Amino acid sequence: MKTLNDFNFKNKKALIRVDFNVPLNEKFEVTDATRIVSAKPTIIKILEDGGSCILMSHLGRPKGVQDEFSLRHIVKETENILGVKVKFVSECVGEQARIAAANLQPGEVLLLENLRFHKEEEAGDRGFSEKLAKLGDIYVNDAFGTAHRAHASTTIIADFFPKSKCFGYLLAQEIESIDKVMKTGEKPVLAVLGGAKVSSKITIIENILDKVDHLIIGGGMSFTFIKAQGGKIGNSICEDDKMDLALDILKKAKAKNVQVHIPVDVIAADAFSNDANTQVVDINEIPDGWEGVDAGPKSIKLFHDVVMKSKTILWNGPLGVFEMESFAKGTIALGNSIAEATKNGAFSLVGGGDSVAAVKQFGFENKVSYVSTGGGAMLESLEGIVLPGIAAIIE
Ligand code: AMP
Repeated sequence: MKTLNDFNFKNKKALIRVDFNVPLNEKFEVTDATRIVSAKPTIIKILEDGGSCILMSHLGRPKGVQDEFSLRHIVKETENILGVKVKFVSECVGEQARIAAANLQPGEVLLLENLRFHKEEEAGDRGFSEKLAKLGDIYVNDAFGTAHRAHASTTIIADFFPKSKCFGYLLAQEIESIDKVMKTGEKPVLAVLGGAKVSSKITIIENILDKVDHLIIGGGMSFTFIKAQGGKIGNSICEDDKMDLALDILKKAKAKNVQVHIPVDVIAADAFSNDANTQVVDINEIPDGWEGVDAGPKSIKLFHDVVMKSKTILWNGPLGVFEMESFAKGTIALGNSIAEATKNGAFSLVGGGDSVAAVKQFGFENKVSYVSTGGGAMLESLEGIVLPGIAAIIE
């Protein structure tokens, strides 16, 4: 696996695919700069080597050229974060881009306009990839968030740099973190899968059964397992057509010696509302008219004990409807347990959609080992897919 450390960038122009797809408010100010901050170590290493950086990214989902999706809006924020001037060119291919790249001096940073202003980007067009490739000497992919897409700038472009392509620090760190869970991590390995639906996690569960010693199934998707085993789940969320699958998963887990932990009690609410009446009930005895919305105290304790004896922990998906304050306790308790285990030396990876939001919202970001920057890319990695953006560098 080639990373930045395999190259000296002195007098080289690094063409870096970053993921600067950051949220903007109505004044076009960046409201969460995490992705820009995450790319900083890569950019600084190249500048310190005596090289220059040509940054390329997409922003949003424009239909053709639309000023509201211009990367011009993020130039100031990028300058503030990097501490160096950022030049901007209002196209990513074409004469202006070619001249701006050609004139770039060591120590300088150039940001190209939104790649997705051209439909060729998402189509993975070879001609477009080649035009981009001509701008730089070494291709660096540091965009985990788009590594699962075979787009021009994330995958196809790598063909034009057979000997001079590598991962940036961020992407390398993402790959190492996933490998720790899937391949190299110290045992016992635990995966905590929560969230709403079994159907969206099924491929992950099936793939992960070969890698883990313990599996916690929490949140809304646990009710499909409970009902399949004959429990009464009241009005709780359930995918009836996935009950056979749930039983099959439990059978496979047993055959593979994976210990599966499912909630034993639950906070039941009489409405899907923060102000609903609630009661703690046995997970198999949820009364009609009530629905399970968060892990109960016995489940929290059970999960805590499993987390504390694990040395490698993956967390994907909340244990309850954490967006409502009244039903966030289980998710917060799990975050606390994982933070404690991490402090005691366990490796913990949080990734994929809502769990990242929960971790940030409740302040666990710096108390776990690694928070993934890619939603879809992380989920596909956990499904066992080799992401095209990663394969293109390794080949
Ligand atoms: P996912 O995107 O699959 O990780 O699912 C996250 C969503 O699952 C969040 O919006 C949670 O509110 C929801 N969720 C978690 N537990 C429950 C539950 N018991 N009932 C309904 N929704 C839930």
